[in-house]
Amino acid sequence: ASLQKDEGTAEAKGYKGHDMLAPFTAGWQTTDLHPLVIERSEGPYVYDTNGTKYLDALAGLWSTALGGSEPRLVEAATKQLKTLPFYHSFWNRTTKPSLDLAKELIGMFTARKMGKVFFTNSGSEANDTQVKLVWYYNNALGRPNKKKFIARAKSYHGSTLIAASLSGLPALHNKFDLPAPFVLHTDCPHYWRFHQPGESEEDFATRLATNLENLILKEGPDTIAAFIAEPVMGAGGVIPPPATYFDKIQPILKKYDILLIADEVICAFGRLGTMFGCDKYGIKPDLVSMAKALSSAYQPIGAVLVSPEISDVIHSQSSKLGAFSHGFTYSGHPVACAVALEALKIYKERNILETVNSLAPRFQEGLKAYADSPIIGEIRGTGLIMGTEFVDNKSPNEPFPAEWGVGAIFGAECEKQGMLVRVAGDNIMLCPPFIMSHEELDMLIDRYGKALKGTE
Ligand code: PLP
Repeated sequence: ASLQKDEGTAEAKGYKGHDMLAPFTAGWQTTDLHPLVIERSEGPYVYDTNGTKYLDALAGLWSTALGGSEPRLVEAATKQLKTLPFYHSFWNRTTKPSLDLAKELIGMFTARKMGKVFFTNSGSEANDTQVKLVWYYNNALGRPNKKKFIARAKSYHGSTLIAASLSGLPALHNKFDLPAPFVLHTDCPHYWRFHQPGESEEDFATRLATNLENLILKEGPDTIAAFIAEPVMGAGGVIPPPATYFDKIQPILKKYDILLIADEVICAFGRLGTMFGCDKYGIKPDLVSMAKALSSAYQPIGAVLVSPEISDVIHSQSSKLGAFSHGFTYSGHPVACAVALEALKIYKERNILETVNSLAPRFQEGLKAYADSPIIGEIRGTGLIMGTEFVDNKSPNEPFPAEWGVGAIFGAECEKQGMLVRVAGDNIMLCPPFIMSHEELDMLIDRYGKALKGTE
């Protein structure tokens, strides 16, 4: 299967069998095909070394919300690089951009009051940090057995050892001796794929909540520390929760004193048409992870928001238990924080929610118009995020044989049309930048349709 057309520039061909052991890339891809080498970006487009222009329908990796040429972010980085390119945030030494960004994030997150912010370089590090925060907290409270985490099948929380353990995707576990034993997985909340005949969305949500409670009771509530969930699952296939799901899950967690972690790495900063995914689904988390659009991906940065209850315990117990001895050289990197501050300023000034909500209906309706295709099982999404699942047979939604590579063929057809999307098996995902015009959105929908025809 040709994932990238093999007619690149001499330069790109020269990188065949290159020197990178590249993330999530199979060895045969790098030896059999020339890599797609992206050279520059402009608005919602990226260009390869051939000069070929692609509509970047995944916003980098669900991240460049402001597109690929926002001068204010470049200026913010340059200004900070000239003033103070680096200083750390260890031992009560820190920098102004990191303090200002922490304050800004606490002010922005209104689903519930948050207490403190811990900075990381990525979403994976944010989720690893969550586990250490929760363990420290429960040790401080004298609950050394309350340490297990419950995550969900098909979730994606990152690829470091702990984040990969939390993730519910077999590819992240197989061959790595994961998940770690303290991680349990409960049901994927995908109604279309997993509901029983005649079961309503609400009934499906009730069944999943009951299964969660049964798992907690079986393991012993005193052993379960936290539950982690993406408001809308991203890399698992773009899976919005079924109606009433979070309303039913949250009281169960409360009942057994289990913390709720919202992984907002994709959903935060407007993606779903609300500032945070938690706002959309009435989620009141104890801890929140964010990254990606926090800086519109112009600098690597992640953040963990910590409730006042947890941060107070960590603060007050540190004289007894010792400092929260965790952090990275680049936690609160001043350049990354300066860029993130500017990105948040732009989201506010340009009223990003209005923009997303004006684009979203066209995006959703335009793509859902293809739902009748004989190879589409479901097109689903909300705001500016959409997933498509291909099936061999619409009823009862039988998958294609994996070796046919139907998703990969669609991905290659999109490339032919000048568009980049995310392919995972027979799941296709789109997550365009917010700066697309209505005409560019129509172009995206049109290219999707042509790629679909080419795949059928
Ligand atoms: N959490 C979610 C929901 C994600 O989608 C991702 C990345 O796609 C991560 C965590 C991991 O983030 P990173 O790749 O920055 O480590």
